Amino acid sequence: MAKKTNNEDHCSFCGRPASQCSMLLTGLEGYICSECVEQANLIINQQDIRKPLKPEKKDKPIPTPVEIKSFMDQYVIGQDEAKKVLAVAVYNHYKRLQYYESTNDANEVEIEKSNIILVGETGTGKTLMARTIARMLDVPFCIADATTLTEAGYVGDDVENVLVRLLQAADYNVAAAERGIVFIDEIDKIARKSDNPSITRDVSGEGVQQAMLKLLEGAVVNVPPQGGRKHPEQQMIQVNTRNILFMSGGAFDGIERDIALRMKSNVIGFNGTKTRQEINRHNLLKYIQPMDLKKFGLIPELVGRFPVLTHLNPLDRDALLRILTEPKNALVKQYQELFKMDGVALDFDKEALGVIVDIAVEYRLGARGLRSIVEELMNDLMFELPSHKGEHIVITKEIAKERLDKTMAE
Ligand code: ADP
Repeated sequence: MAKKTNNEDHCSFCGRPASQCSMLLTGLEGYICSECVEQANLIINQQDIRKPLKPEKKDKPIPTPVEIKSFMDQYVIGQDEAKKVLAVAVYNHYKRLQYYESTNDANEVEIEKSNIILVGETGTGKTLMARTIARMLDVPFCIADATTLTEAGYVGDDVENVLVRLLQAADYNVAAAERGIVFIDEIDKIARKSDNPSITRDVSGEGVQQAMLKLLEGAVVNVPPQGGRKHPEQQMIQVNTRNILFMSGGAFDGIERDIALRMKSNVIGFNGTKTRQEINRHNLLKYIQPMDLKKFGLIPELVGRFPVLTHLNPLDRDALLRILTEPKNALVKQYQELFKMDGVALDFDKEALGVIVDIAVEYRLGARGLRSIVEELMNDLMFELPSHKGEHIVITKEIAKERLDKTMAE
């Protein structure tokens, strides 16, 4: 029952008088203050986050490597080698996970987790691949930028905050988050400046790498639910990272030089069959090995925690052309869909697409730049779109050139 003393209403839960509450809500037979509402909400959320995954989700069969690759083929152009390596690694990871969940046998051989490092120029599809795999497997996914992370005690994001994002992606369902995928972007930017730890202890880079080990080692990590700094009175959520798949990506600018040096000494030392011409600059990444990452400045423990290493190729003109039209959500298809909604049919001449790609190549904008170029091209048309109902618009080379030359010159 609602308490009433001195003619003042009181919260039926904590007994506080209305004058001491931010707000007092009236029910049929009592009152509740906004503070108690918040407290109750917290308790409910905490119950929610410990809810186990629905069984049907756990028992879903894991797609085979071939199925994973062909799903990726729908969204990612080229990069066949990386796709295959990734498909196998992801398949093994979830197979391992399902196996341990079903057996609980501690004496079995411990199968190592297949965390993955993707090395390749920016805008070649590293993040896209990770995102596509998470989408296929329907697991929570988040992206963390390694450059924003700092070791505990420094200004910036504690590494635990990576898991906050994963929890958010999982709607705070801890069990789901513990099977999720984390993509750590720009891992190369936290390399230490020298590969000789005794001479240069580079706190910013190496400290973060050390802190990151904690996540990768499969530990139970205390995560502040709303992110930010930990403070003592805050309730923590415990997340076990043992089954979280970590992928990381980086351009590792200049790593080709180290690979070349290593290869050159191998070629000379072992009288190998590869001549120096064969090992040209463009395919050097193909030969990347964990020792090159160490040379670049990743600490050996971190490299060891990413047993799968693969590379992405730079995107050539042909790949960029295909990216415009082929993926399931290709830019051209998206615009055609947008136009269709206004009753307008849209087509691009092949040469018009060539003009777009040429600009991306000329200005070194890569795949990421394609969107802004197409947006420039289509903006005026989009502006007048509703008045073109029933028409069939074809973007020709001339139209593309005229519109883009104008904006590029600005
Ligand atoms: P990275 O992580 O390698 O820097 P992203 O995966 O973020 O690059 O790519 C940026 C954008 O460029 C993607 O969202 C996608 O639209 C496009 N893109 C890049 N590479 C490819 C590719 N191989 N196939 C299809 N689209 C791509």
